[in-house]
Amino acid sequence: MTSADDLPLEGGCTCRAVRFRLASRPLFVHCCHCTWCQRESGASFALNAMIESERVELLGGAPELVETPSASGAGQRIARCPRCRVAVWSHYAGAGDAIRFVRVGTLDEPGRLPPDIHIFTASKQPWVVLPPGTPAVPAYYDRRTYWPAESLERLDALRARGAGRHAPPS
Ligand SMILES: [Zn+2]
Ligand SMILES: [Zn+2]
Repeated sequence: MTSADDLPLEGGCTCRAVRFRLASRPLFVHCCHCTWCQRESGASFALNAMIESERVELLGGAPELVETPSASGAGQRIARCPRCRVAVWSHYAGAGDAIRFVRVGTLDEPGRLPPDIHIFTASKQPWVVLPPGTPAVPAYYDRRTYWPAESLERLDALRARGAGRHAPPS
């Protein structure tokens, strides 16, 4: 579970042209150790908070969506500030426009959203030591096994409205 008890969380890009607020806690927070996330972050893993797009409120200018290849081949769209180009979230083809993968590092208080799960640990950098007590899987996972009931219900509700039909990938 996330520890975002004092919502809403706010964040944005470095030049502050793009600012946003999360209207609720995210569905789930992925720490992804896949090689694609390592390259795209330039670091050792990506930390993404999955949340319904309708729960991300824009407080400033809108980011620009940049088409980017993805491991699945279906592509992703990375939302970047039009001025400083910092990436604030991604849409993946599987989950569609209805879900945003918000980059936790763009939040003003990123420490409030620690990982709910570590994924693709088979390709994690060898010096990264995973904490005991947080689920970790070598590749992807079945969300019915790991997500809290409240998040599963939120995703079902989103799909019932005709959005986010497909299984969200990483
Ligand atoms: Zn900016
Ligand atoms: Zn990844």
